[in-house]
Amino acid sequence: MNIMENLQYAVIGKFSCGCPELDELRRIIPKQCNIKGACQIGLLRHRHVLMRFELFEDFVNMMSKPSYYITDNAGLYYLMRPLIYDEKFRVDEETSQAMAWISFHDLWSTFFGREAIFSLASAVGKPIQLDTTTINKTRPSCASVKVQLDLLGDLPKFVELEIENEEKTSSRVEKVKVVYDMLPKYCKRCKLQGHNEEECRILHPELRKQEHNANMELKDKELSKPSRFLKKQWNLPTKDSSETLIRRLLLRAWN
Ligand SMILES: [Zn+2]
Repeated sequence: MNIMENLQYAVIGKFSCGCPELDELRRIIPKQCNIKGACQIGLLRHRHVLMRFELFEDFVNMMSKPSYYITDNAGLYYLMRPLIYDEKFRVDEETSQAMAWISFHDLWSTFFGREAIFSLASAVGKPIQLDTTTINKTRPSCASVKVQLDLLGDLPKFVELEIENEEKTSSRVEKVKVVYDMLPKYCKRCKLQGHNEEECRILHPELRKQEHNANMELKDKELSKPSRFLKKQWNLPTKDSSETLIRRLLLRAWN
């Protein structure tokens, strides 16, 4: 069997810190991620598992959420982020391939077929699926389609549509605006998804300090105002002891 062929619907599961044993992962991932078809799971590198799906639907569904909390037998949670597998996979770099919804607004209803919308979407990336409102034509002002795209690629703001008039043997060009919905960010410096260069704390160390100061301000505000909700919930007897307990709980949450 051609190994690469078998990797057609492949997703990397990247764990943030630690992950359950492989045998347990093979048992719990299909259940907890609602996988319908066959699924092969193998350990790829440290904290990275490779999931190969038999069904395209499972591949799309797995990529439809930015992260999953996988719970092991002991009830411990592990954060796992799905990333599209590509042959250039490296453990210290995340792929720039991602899935995102794009929309075409004010598109004529005559172009609301799958073929026409997929054709427009192919200017952005690889079309994956139409959304339900587009299939059912219940939102005629907007057509939405999920595409696999390269976050580092040249993502167009408009797609040009050439409309031919067969009777007059002429044509005209219409510009269709492309709206990107929640496009994942990618940092070229860190080679990671989740933030861009403007938000990069390696490129802009001053951001760490600002974040730290903002956290400290928030912490001070919270500590100066003991929460009524907390007091009520734990039914604490006096003002002094409630403040002490809240202070300790807040510090524990931050540390
Ligand atoms: Zn960065």
